[in-house]
Amino acid sequence: MKISDLGEFGLIGRIQKLAPRKSSSTLIGIGDDAAALKLPASHTLLATTDLLIEGVHFDLAYTDFHSLGWKAAAVNLSDIAAMGGIPRFCLTALGIPTGISVEQITEFYRGFKALLKSHGTTLIGGDTCSSRKGLFISVTALGEVEPRRIITRAGARPGDRIFVTGTLGDSAAGLELLESGVRSQESGVRSKKLKSALRTTRLSSPKSSHFALIERHLRPVPRVEWGRKIALSGCASAMIDLSDGLSSDLSRICEQSRVGAELLANGIPLSDALRKLTGKLAKPAAHYALSGGEDYELLFTAPPGKVKKIRSLKLPLTEIGLITSGKTLSLVDSRGRKKTLRPSGYDHFGGRRAVK
Ligand code: ADP
Ligand code: MG
Repeated sequence: MKISDLGEFGLIGRIQKLAPRKSSSTLIGIGDDAAALKLPASHTLLATTDLLIEGVHFDLAYTDFHSLGWKAAAVNLSDIAAMGGIPRFCLTALGIPTGISVEQITEFYRGFKALLKSHGTTLIGGDTCSSRKGLFISVTALGEVEPRRIITRAGARPGDRIFVTGTLGDSAAGLELLESGVRSQESGVRSKKLKSALRTTRLSSPKSSHFALIERHLRPVPRVEWGRKIALSGCASAMIDLSDGLSSDLSRICEQSRVGAELLANGIPLSDALRKLTGKLAKPAAHYALSGGEDYELLFTAPPGKVKKIRSLKLPLTEIGLITSGKTLSLVDSRGRKKTLRPSGYDHFGGRRAVK
């Protein structure tokens, strides 16, 4: 069905029906001029917003709308996780071009809702406009955190150890597979097949290494529970979620904490899927892990005295380096040789990040 057949308010009505149920802290949700929310008096409000633009952040040739909705929610919840917070509410603003159907927007909100539901987060409002060119998606997430548990990017100190959750590089490698059209015989997952597989299997176990990498790109999982555990442990001195790439995001912690860092080249955790496909990708696995973005894992630092406690959290963590008093970022190889690491993640305006 065309959106023009339904009209702006008809479409908002559909979105409202798909919205997760109101929580007890939503006094007023979708439908009025603004939402009205209640937070526990002892908690601080966290607010973050992210813009996803067709042709810049996603390509409708290789993502389905359910995954797009999932990811739009995930990238915002990941920012709340990186502050040590609990995501509570989301707002979505869409600029929709002609050619997008009511069914596609409905699928988008189904994916959005699926991710929100798994974290007890509620959709409380948004805005809907037409766009002359391309689909625009802006998501705002609101979360809460005890003020003393907030983890910023500015608290890293020389001597702190650097940890990362999960594995790195899968998302960038998955994007490369999608872009280079390896949704082909070799992967056994054609584009159309991939879309229907993602729709039907959701996050069920991946069927191939290709599928695993692609799924991590299209449907990242924000590390909300892990971020919360790290925050409540009181062990982390700084934290960030990995959206632009390890080298780039670590440099942000370093800049804001006024420190340097040494990363162990061989210590960066890689998934079995990425290792398996190493020879088939354009670049070595380490390239995707260091410079590829959108892993949405958590990168944090902790003083040496807290390392034991961090390990006792039993999270999938890897220690990957050390904060130093210099201002440079370096990569240390297995023989102890150091080379300067340039922050090389994605920069929307093509500028080079300052390397101090
Ligand atoms: P206003 O003109 O006062 O901004 P709108 O008519 O744009 O109100 O929106 C009506 C209600 O629907 C508001 O509660 C708004 O938050 C909600 N809303 C509009 N678009 C969306 C959307 N894409 N997703 C979720 N809620 C939406
Ligand atoms: Mg409006």
